[in-house]
Amino acid sequence: MKTLKIAIQKSGRLNEKSVELLKNCGLNFENYKSSLISPVSNFPLEILFLRDDDIPEYVQDGIADLGIVGENVIEETEVEVAYLQKLGFGKCSLKIAVPNNNTITDLKQLNGKAIATTYPVILGKYLKAQGISSDIRTISGSVEISPGLGLSDAICDLVSTGGTLKSNGLKPFADVMSSEAVLIGSKGSENDDLIKELIQRIQSVLRAKETKYVVLNVKRENLDAVTALLPGVKSPSVVPLAEADWVAVHTVIPERDFWDSISQLKQAGAQGIVVMPIEKIIL
Ligand code: ATP
Ligand code: MG
Repeated sequence: MKTLKIAIQKSGRLNEKSVELLKNCGLNFENYKSSLISPVSNFPLEILFLRDDDIPEYVQDGIADLGIVGENVIEETEVEVAYLQKLGFGKCSLKIAVPNNNTITDLKQLNGKAIATTYPVILGKYLKAQGISSDIRTISGSVEISPGLGLSDAICDLVSTGGTLKSNGLKPFADVMSSEAVLIGSKGSENDDLIKELIQRIQSVLRAKETKYVVLNVKRENLDAVTALLPGVKSPSVVPLAEADWVAVHTVIPERDFWDSISQLKQAGAQGIVVMPIEKIIL
């Protein structure tokens, strides 16, 4: 039987969540920081731990069948790969930022200005599409300090909370792209049976993350009012309780919807509300 290879980041912002996702898919492997390859004992899969910049090319060239990497890295390396699944973590945006005291208000004012970035390909395409010609200065890191050093007028860098920009006296000015971690495969890999199975496992973990298992008690006379407030995946299970006129309602609902309706549920007579995490939802 063939063994698949999946490339994930060795260390950095995506490493922990990538390992967690694969473990939640029921894959059993050692996460030794020192090893480059880790075999999975209960699935024909090997995990390659790499620098994130190398992952798109490894996948394009078929050295790895799959990879987990930020969309920003895929766009920047301009590889031909198949996007298989968005993974919901590693969310950030690539933004142009300018010093706080800068009077730039319009993108056109960046014409002829120097912009420092580690993403010259994405930035170049963006500026071209906007009809702007700036001097793109490619640097390999610490982009946020370059305006302060007089190396550039603006920067283009990844931002999640904006804290790094703020502490360097910069303000976000324009959104270039938004990004999150994605599962990629070599072209055509989406038709492979083993890969399909792995994608299904990943999807069942992702679905479970967004939903909660909710149990609550309610008097039978208030049952209709309470269930009307529960937009369940399916109709809720209603279980009789030892006390004759009370029932327990079990349901699976998106966490977002639940928090919106919690006070209404209480008003409608729901008591003893218990919210539990779900490990997997297999459709
Ligand atoms: P490597 O050593 O693997 O090359 P790196 O230093 O290039 O790592 P990290 O800083 O670990 O990369 O970021 C990995 C990915 O995490 C980014 O490419 C991006 O998709 C995502 N990310 C999420 N939030 C942020 C953020 N605030 N800053 C940078 N990257 C972020
Ligand atoms: Mg990198």
